[in-house]
Amino acid sequence: MRISIPNITSNGTYTPVLLPVTQTIQRLVDFLGASTGTAVLTGAGVSVASGIRAYRGDHGRYINPNYKPILYQELVDKGEKGAGFRKRYWLRSYLGYPPVRDAMPNTSHTAIAAGMHGSMFKRLITQNVDGLHVKALRPFWDASNVRNHILELHGTLFRVHCQRGHVFDRDEFQGMLSESNPEWKQFADELERTGQKPRTNPDGDVALDGVAYDEFVVPNCRECLVEGRTNSVLKPDVVFFGESIKGWVKDRSFRDVEDCDRLLVIGTTLATYSAFRLVKHAVELNKPVFVLNMGPTRADGLPGIQKVDGLSGSVLSEVVRTILGSDIIRDPALNTLLSSGVTCPPPDDVHDMPKGPG
Ligand SMILES: [Zn+2]
Repeated sequence: MRISIPNITSNGTYTPVLLPVTQTIQRLVDFLGASTGTAVLTGAGVSVASGIRAYRGDHGRYINPNYKPILYQELVDKGEKGAGFRKRYWLRSYLGYPPVRDAMPNTSHTAIAAGMHGSMFKRLITQNVDGLHVKALRPFWDASNVRNHILELHGTLFRVHCQRGHVFDRDEFQGMLSESNPEWKQFADELERTGQKPRTNPDGDVALDGVAYDEFVVPNCRECLVEGRTNSVLKPDVVFFGESIKGWVKDRSFRDVEDCDRLLVIGTTLATYSAFRLVKHAVELNKPVFVLNMGPTRADGLPGIQKVDGLSGSVLSEVVRTILGSDIIRDPALNTLLSSGVTCPPPDDVHDMPKGPG
């Protein structure tokens, strides 16, 4: 069944497809109930209820119009200019990381994890770098099983590498940043102590205005030092704007879509081409696609796509419950997953960040 296509006109007005929750649930049950294995594609919208802010609001506009992410070429530039960008990036990320590290899976993550554990969802491709899908499933699956089923299309915040390929766990690198910047560590501890949360963007960056970044020290890679080199060109394993995703990630994302009989898209505007092309790929292969997102998406108007405006959390839980039925009673993991998940959306305020030490 075709659902009416929402309009995105040039002046930015958008007519959402709003259905009563029970109807949204029924459409999803109809879509997924017939599946032998669905691929799920998620974006920032899925993490909002975990306190991680989306880049774009309900109307497809950037929530913070002044947000200018650092570009790949800027971050890895070996010169003076690059060093400046790295100071800015790593200071903001130093303060932005703890809230992402401490964020908990919400009901969307736990419902998707239950759907994976119950074999409804065969593959999950996420654009999010916050690790929350992994966190939801890890108590029940071992690390390699999780890796085989979840593809982090744009990488993860939880690893850092130097330009020569030495890899660090992000917590370890956070410790290196603390050691090199005791004043900022004090400031970060104070934030944590007083419960002030910096306004964090989905990539773990914080909005920090009027701060001189020059004083911040980006430490040298420890492994490079052992090899007798100084090298402070360090980057999180996150795909930056201006950077291409790795060949194997791209290939696997296509394969994941091919291996499944349909595609469920949740909480993303599909503004990023690496995600949008997966929807196009599914359409070209005549696989049914269902988009559940609040607000316009790049796939709106593509032929054969079902689209409903809505938030995913409680809806998905109910859909997974309906489809898995009595399996839930038999498998304690499913029951645990479907009765967990936090709900703490980020605050709406814009300027909630003190200006740093000094
Ligand atoms: Zn190194």
